[in-house]
Amino acid sequence: MKLVKQRTLMILLLVLALLVGTVIYCARYMTQGSDWAAFPSNQHAFTDGSIASGQILDRNGTLLFDAASGAYAEDGTVRKATLHAVGDPDGNIATGARSAFLSDLVGWNAITGTTGSGHKLYLTVDAALNQLAYQELGSRKGTVAVYNYETGEILCMVSTPTFDPENIPDIRDGDTAYEGVYMNRFLSSTFTPGSVFKVVTTAAAIDNLPDVFDRTFTCTGRITIGDDTITCPHAHGTMNFYDAFANSCNCAYAQLAVEMGGDTLAQYANTAGLLDSQNISGITTAAGSFDVGEAGSPQLGWSGVGQYDDLINPCSFMTLMGAIGNDGIPVTPRIIKKETTMAGLPVSNPGKDTGSRIWSQKTCETVKEMMANNVAEVYGQSNFGDLKLCAKSGTAEVGTASPHSWFAGFLDDTEHPYAFVVLVENGGGGATVAGSIASRVLQAAVAK
Ligand SMILES: [Zn+2]
Repeated sequence: MKLVKQRTLMILLLVLALLVGTVIYCARYMTQGSDWAAFPSNQHAFTDGSIASGQILDRNGTLLFDAASGAYAEDGTVRKATLHAVGDPDGNIATGARSAFLSDLVGWNAITGTTGSGHKLYLTVDAALNQLAYQELGSRKGTVAVYNYETGEILCMVSTPTFDPENIPDIRDGDTAYEGVYMNRFLSSTFTPGSVFKVVTTAAAIDNLPDVFDRTFTCTGRITIGDDTITCPHAHGTMNFYDAFANSCNCAYAQLAVEMGGDTLAQYANTAGLLDSQNISGITTAAGSFDVGEAGSPQLGWSGVGQYDDLINPCSFMTLMGAIGNDGIPVTPRIIKKETTMAGLPVSNPGKDTGSRIWSQKTCETVKEMMANNVAEVYGQSNFGDLKLCAKSGTAEVGTASPHSWFAGFLDDTEHPYAFVVLVENGGGGATVAGSIASRVLQAAVAK
């Protein structure tokens, strides 16, 4: 009798262990199944380690990559212009869709596992707009991006240098023509912002210096702070706050930065979202940094005009531009428009992701007015067609090399709520070089 009891107990324990094991397996299958399916040894979805199922398309259905054939877009310029969005055959561009969204392409689901042909992944980008932005950048290194600041959809995202994934060049270490070619500069790089950072200093001054609009600033072209001299390209003369922003006067802004202090500026850079990384449809962007010098130091003055050790990520800055256009509420950019089966049945349709308010609505309205004034007074509306443009240029000094050229802003236009950023590495003057690229890409975006 005792033996029977022992055996029954043993069997019960074995059954219990089996049940626990099954539950653990099922839970892991549900949570990690898509990762298992996306493992390159899965012969249903991969051939020789390369993905063999699924397609990547642009927002209008233009085919950008077909995994079964390994073919990219038909047009060679589109292939180069969408390389960083789509990804390369060797998987060197980790933020490209074919690497970052592998499990979506494989088309795994808990009921059927991997279906034979995978899924269609529609990106938010417009291939023709990317093509135009790429042609505008030409042989220069940099990035151009445009997004809808109400929906979060990225319409244009180009990074250069690039290459044709169907004719991969021989890229050797140290080849300056292909410096950082596997990095999407928009998502994964940080750069000295130069004068585009004055947008942050402006918001801080509006909130913290109640008389700032009653002040006059006199620029002689140079100002001494501590043991350093901060300079402007020429003497801007006597100005009000609007003109100091439009002229991008370093002397005026360095003084404002020193007066407000590093903690205040760092707080505004932080609420602007410039110090955090973002989650773009699951891709983590690079975080920026703001290094304040000591109180009253020339370094603090340089920080306030976007020089010294300040670094920003282009995607974060574009989101800040969108937030100002959206009355202070940032909408996180996203790159996946929708996912369907190969037959077109909907699988997922991601919604928008809204962040917390950056600055007060009133402050954003004032900054918006000042950015519109920049276009009217300095950049010239005639250079931007009928665009309802609010913008700030930047010419960021980077040692002895030619400065980086920035132009960023948004359209104050309910039908075309687009924010943008253009960066040309060592491009020269911001408003002329990056500004003209922005003008042509935005006019094409609005015409669509
Ligand atoms: Zn000045």
